[in-house]
Amino acid sequence: MLLDPSTLIFINVANLLVMGGALPIIMGQGLSTAAARGRRSLILNAGAWICLLISTEWNGVLPDLLLSTLAMALICASQWALYRALENWLGRRPLRRALLVLAWLMPTGYALSFSSYEIRVGWANLLLAAQMLIVARACLYPMNRDFGRASWRYPLFGCLVVMAGFTSARGILGAWFTELYPYFRAPTPVNLAALLAANMALVLGAMTILGAWREEAEQQLHRLAITDPLTGLLNRNGWAAQTGHVLRRAQRHKQPLSLLLLDLDHFKQINDVHGHETGDEVLRRFARVLQQCLRTGDVCARVGGEEMCVLLFNADTAAARAFDERVRARLAQHAAMPLPVGFSAGHTLCRDDETTLEQAMARADAALYRAKGAGRGQMVSDCDAT
Ligand code: GH3
Ligand code: MG
Ligand code: MG
Repeated sequence: MLLDPSTLIFINVANLLVMGGALPIIMGQGLSTAAARGRRSLILNAGAWICLLISTEWNGVLPDLLLSTLAMALICASQWALYRALENWLGRRPLRRALLVLAWLMPTGYALSFSSYEIRVGWANLLLAAQMLIVARACLYPMNRDFGRASWRYPLFGCLVVMAGFTSARGILGAWFTELYPYFRAPTPVNLAALLAANMALVLGAMTILGAWREEAEQQLHRLAITDPLTGLLNRNGWAAQTGHVLRRAQRHKQPLSLLLLDLDHFKQINDVHGHETGDEVLRRFARVLQQCLRTGDVCARVGGEEMCVLLFNADTAAARAFDERVRARLAQHAAMPLPVGFSAGHTLCRDDETTLEQAMARADAALYRAKGAGRGQMVSDCDAT
C-alpha cells in the first residue's frame, strides 16, 4: 500500500468540510454557543488545510507567505474555538491567556521567519503543539462535577495529546533534522503518521462535538425538569432530588437542619387588586430575596403557588429565626418589592431518625397553619414551647 501525503491532506480537507457542513443539519437549528464553537473549530481547521494546500503552488514567494501565514492563523483560531467550546461545556478553563498569547505569537513569528524553513517550521509546530496541550489539559482539568460525567472529554484529550506529539515531532525534525522533514508534503514516516493521525483526530473531534452536544441537551432537559420557570428556584422535583443528601449529611455530622415553609400573606388579593403580572413579579422578587439570604449548602424551592420551602444547613431554631428576620428586613427595603408584601413561616427541625423530609414538611406545614391563625406576618416553630 502506498500512502501519499497529498491524498491524505485532500481527504482530510474533504472530511472536514463535509463534517462542518453536515453537523448543523444533524444537530438542527438553534445550535448552542458551545456546539457552534466546536463546529467552527472544525471549519477553521479545514480552512487552514485548504490554505496550506494552495500555498504550495507558489513555493517561497509572496502568495505562499500570505496563504501559509493565514493557514497558521486559522489553525490557531481553530484551537481557540475548541477551547472556548470546552469553556462553554465545562466552565472556565485554565491557561486561557497563555493560549491566546501563543495563538498570536505563532502566526506572527511564522511570517517573520518565513525566509528560514528551519525556524518557521520549528516555531510554528512547537507553538501549535503547546496550544494543543493547553486545550488537551482543558479537557480534563479542572474536573467539575456540576457539568456531569462528560466522558467525551477522554477521547478528545487522547487525540489532542497524540496530535501534539506528532506536531512537535514535525517541528523538531523540520528545525534540527531537516532532511527527515524537508517540506510540507514530504512522504517521510513521521509526516505520513501525522497526517493519518490528523484524519483520525478529525473523526474523533466530530464525534466529541456530537457527544458533548448530546450531554448538553440532556443537562438542559434535566435543569428544566427541576427548575420552576417563573422564579428560577427548584421545583418540587428539584427539591426532592437535592434535599436527600443534605438530610443525610446533617445526620452524619450531627448538625441541626432547619426546614422552613414560607407562604405569602393575602397573595390572592395582590392578584385581584394589581393583576396577575404584578403577582408574578412579586413571586420572582420574593424568590430573589430568599436566595440573597441563603448560605452555601442551603436549599430553596417553590413547592406551591406562593409557597416556598427552605432547608437551612447547620441551623438550629435560633438560626432559622435569624434567617426569617433577615428575609423580612430585606423585603421591607425600598425597591425589593413593587408593593408591601408579608409572609408567614412554619419551622421545624429535622430529626435523626427520619429518612425523608416528608414528616418534617408536615410539621412545618402545621406550624405555618398556626402562624396564619395567629395573625400572619410571623414565623412559628414547632420547636418553641407551646
Ligand atoms: P393566605 O394569607 O392565607 O396565604 O392567603 P393567600 O391569598 O395568600 O392564599 P390563597 O391560597 O387563598 O391564594 C393563593 C393565590 O396564589 C391564588 C393563586 O391564584 C395565586 N397563585 C398561585 N400561583 C401563582 C402564580 O404563579 N402567579 C400568580 N400571579 N399567582 C399565583
Ligand atoms: Mg398565601
Ligand atoms: Mg398558599
